[in-house]
Parts: sequence; structure tokens; C-alpha cells
Amino acid sequence: MHTCELFRRKTVFSFEVFPPKKDAAVETVYDTLEELKYLSPDFISVTYGAGGSAANRLTVQIASDIRHRYGVESVAHLPCINFTKEEVLAVLREFEQNGIENILALRGDFIPGVPPKTDFRHASDLVSFLRENSACNIIGACYPEGHPESASVVDDIRNLKCKVDAGVSQLISQLFFDNGYFYTFLERARIAGINVPVEAGIMPVTNKKQIERMVSLCGATLPKKFTTMMEKYENNSIAMRDAGIAYAIDQIVDLAAHGVDGIHLYTMNNSYVAKKISEAVASLICSGRVSA
Ligand code: FAD
Repeated sequence: MHTCELFRRKTVFSFEVFPPKKDAAVETVYDTLEELKYLSPDFISVTYGAGGSAANRLTVQIASDIRHRYGVESVAHLPCINFTKEEVLAVLREFEQNGIENILALRGDFIPGVPPKTDFRHASDLVSFLRENSACNIIGACYPEGHPESASVVDDIRNLKCKVDAGVSQLISQLFFDNGYFYTFLERARIAGINVPVEAGIMPVTNKKQIERMVSLCGATLPKKFTTMMEKYENNSIAMRDAGIAYAIDQIVDLAAHGVDGIHLYTMNNSYVAKKISEAVASLICSGRVSA
């Protein structure tokens, strides 16, 4: 099933998982998925390393198993910056052979010391290429606070419009901790003529190290309410985890009340956290959309 169809019916609620790092057993992600399937997500997406690591082979396997073993629709991420067209075609055929119908088309981040290949400069190039070579559903990434490399938010929205026009049918946002950024972004996107559904990316923060790393990568603004919480609980792991869960729930309640198209939960492969949040917001998600 093409996941873009889901938005017609309800507020979409989806998860993201990643293949285990090279020193962790693959079974760990299956233990997580076993738990996640009971939370009835609309789909689960699986990340794909831009660097061509061995874990990438697992993306295909995990995305395929999510669909065929756990009965949940899946999305495979695909960053293109280090691929040639031939290499993308090979991955695409592998996706098709494994029944993967939904692809999150990404540029990927530049890897220091690794010169990028030149067939795909932007995610929109990959979107056009996938459109020409596949019948898959194509999803794109978007950035409520602007992509860190873009000159301005307006510039970023203009580029996003090109990406959507190339053949994207739904968007998933970068994480953010202040819903105000998401609402402003959405307003600008709609004015720019971007009319596909946009899922809000929510990352529950369960430890200080995790968030410091994430913020250094994506540049998300940390509101005072958030930093106060971290300072208070950073040395108490259980309290920090519970506060992070509560913060994410608070964000989702507000987003659902504003009638967002969907919520994409960055689970960090933590099924306990995903369960707590899913249970808390289940009635908001199931009760359908309230117009913004
Ligand atoms: P693009 O859409 O190409 O945008 C990147 C930058 O280029 C932006 O500043 C944009 O404004 C600019 N731009 C775009 N088109 C043009 C143009 N035509 N002319 C000039 N400038 C242009 N990375 C991974 O490696 N693996 C993953 O699995 C992964 N999953 C992700 C999931 C989500 C939901 C998100 C939000 C990000 C994910 N990323 C992943 C990170 C992503 O690869 C990086 O954020 C990357 O820097 C940008 O990717 P993009 O697809 O948004 O790029």
C-alpha cells in the first residue's frame, strides 16, 4: 500500500527505526519491532546510512520483514549522495523484489573525506529518477526550522516545492521541540503551493547526550521549557526519560489539536518510550483530524 493513501482516513501515526549498529545483534531490532507492532502504527520507516555501510543491507531486510512478518506497512529511506544512477537502480530493484512500495527519497549528509558522487546533487534529482524508473510512493524530508545548509527559510521552501513537484506525495519533518516552528513552516509551505500531507517529526528525548548530538546535527532550537527540564533531570536517568516522554506527549497533544496530517515518532529503537507515548495519544490519533 502507498502510505500517502492513509492520510485520507485519519491522523497518521508512524514510527522510525534504524538497523542495529555494527556491534549490535540484528535480533535487537526484531525485539523492538515485536513490541512496536502491538501499538498499531500506520507505517514504520527504516533509515539507510548515507555512507554505504554494511547496515544498509539490513534496511531492505528489516523493511521487508516489517511488512511481511509483522503486517505493518513499511517505508525504506534512501539517501542518494554517494550513489550513481546504476547503484540506485540496483537498490530500487532490491526494494521491489522485497515488496517495498514506499521510499523516503533523501540527499543524505556529506561525509567528511568522502567526495560525493555527481549523479544526484539534490533529493529532487532522486525523486525525478525514481518517478521515471518505479511506481513506488515517494516521500520527502522537510525542515520546520529550515535545512541547516539553506540560505533562508524562504529559499528552503522554494527548493522543497521543486522536490514535491518532481513527484513527492507526502513529507516527513525533521524533529523540532517548539511547535510554533512547525505551524509557521506549514503556513509558508501551503502559501507556496505545497499541498501534500506533512507529518510532524517528534523525537522523545531520553538522555542529554542523545539530544546534544541530534541538535549539533540538525540545529533544532531548544526552548527554555525544554532546557530547564534537561538541566533539572540530566543526572537522573529515569526522571529524564519520563520527562522526555511527557514533553513529546505534550507536543503531540498540541499538534493533534491543530489538526496536523500526521505524527512521525523517531523511536530510537526504544519500544518502551514508543509504547508510553502511543498509549497516551491513542484516542487523539484514532479520533481523526480536527481542522486547523
Ligand atoms: P534536499 O532536499 O536535497 O535538501 C538539502 C539542501 O539542499 C537544503 O538546504 C535545500 O534547500 C537545498 N536544495 C534542495 N534542492 C536544491 C536545488 N535544486 N538547488 C539548490 N539548493 C537545493 N539521512 C541519511 O543518511 N539516512 C536516513 O535514513 C535519513 N533519514 C532522514 C529522515 C528524515 C525524516 C529527515 C528529515 C532526514 C533524514 N536524513 C537521513 C538526513 C538527510 O539526509 C539530511 O538532512 C540531508 O542533509 C538533506 O537531505 P534532503 O533529502 O532533505 O535534501
